[in-house]
Amino acid sequence: MKKQLYFLCLFLLMAIVSMAQSKPDYSKITLVIHGGAGTITKANMTPEKEKAYKEVLNQALKTGYAILEKGGSSLDAVEATVRVMEDSPLFNAGKGAVFTNEGKNELDAAIMDGKTGKAGAVASLTTVRNPITAARAVMEQSEHVMLIGQGAEKFAKEKGLEIVDPSYFRTETRYQQLQKLKEKEGEKTKLDHDSSGTSSTENIFVEGEKFGTVGAVALDAYGNLAAATSTGGMTNKRYGRVGDVPIIGAGTYADNNTCAVSATGHGEYFIRSVVAHDIAALMEYKGYSLKKAADEVVMKKLVKRGGEGGVIAVDRDGNVAMPFNSAGMYRGYIKKGKAEVAIYKE
Ligand code: ASP
Repeated sequence: MKKQLYFLCLFLLMAIVSMAQSKPDYSKITLVIHGGAGTITKANMTPEKEKAYKEVLNQALKTGYAILEKGGSSLDAVEATVRVMEDSPLFNAGKGAVFTNEGKNELDAAIMDGKTGKAGAVASLTTVRNPITAARAVMEQSEHVMLIGQGAEKFAKEKGLEIVDPSYFRTETRYQQLQKLKEKEGEKTKLDHDSSGTSSTENIFVEGEKFGTVGAVALDAYGNLAAATSTGGMTNKRYGRVGDVPIIGAGTYADNNTCAVSATGHGEYFIRSVVAHDIAALMEYKGYSLKKAADEVVMKKLVKRGGEGGVIAVDRDGNVAMPFNSAGMYRGYIKKGKAEVAIYKE
């Protein structure tokens, strides 16, 4: 009899806990976005350009937040938010992506669900209009985590995703950025040959407006976290280069126990420093707050290693962190219906 009572109490307790868990809490819903970090200063910006960027950032925030407000999932919110920025020619993701050395646009993206720990990623896409949706399809409709190149495109087509001609991604501004970088590269190679007899490919990326990746992280009313990131990579990339964005744990990561992170910056450094997972690990194993963990990785570890860029992050309580060690980062967040967007260092 005693045993039966014990089990009954246990059952009731579990039922109460699960009811409490499934009850939505709208007070904490949060969406954070970035549109890339880099040499973004007031001096190289016009008021019109600034206005245009802020408009898309606000539109992206509104789109994702509308989903969260209706009780939608953080996964749906981050995907929809990233799609807005992919469709805008202003950002280095989807339309408006940067050019490879060969004059192509090759796109990478990843998405992660903090509730299930599932993730999906794509790399080197040239014909899928919204790479973030392809990443989600990999996560939900395949048994894999990452698909690349032609295989990924075949998969996206089979799943009925929108396919476009590669010229869809082209913008003149990005094309000119490639030409400028190539000129500088030529000069640098010449100088290196003249002075030391060796050629250097180091820092061929590190000039001008190089970053522009987009990303979103969210906490929904059910306490679930998600992260999504999408990019054209870095101007002048070559040899099938893939950056940190589609590498789970480097540019994109989400875990309901800790946080959701999306990064932007010089991908090679972010891969080697496993940035997004490192932030979550500091919270999990060292008990750091989100801010402390994100600052430790972006403002200390990456700085020491020479890795330029930043992250956006949200934890399970809806705390937000947006540290960056570059001159600027297009960023914003929305909480309790109030949106804030920023570009430069405050
Ligand atoms: N992290 C991206 C990459 O290396 C670039 C960026 O953030 O703009 O591919």
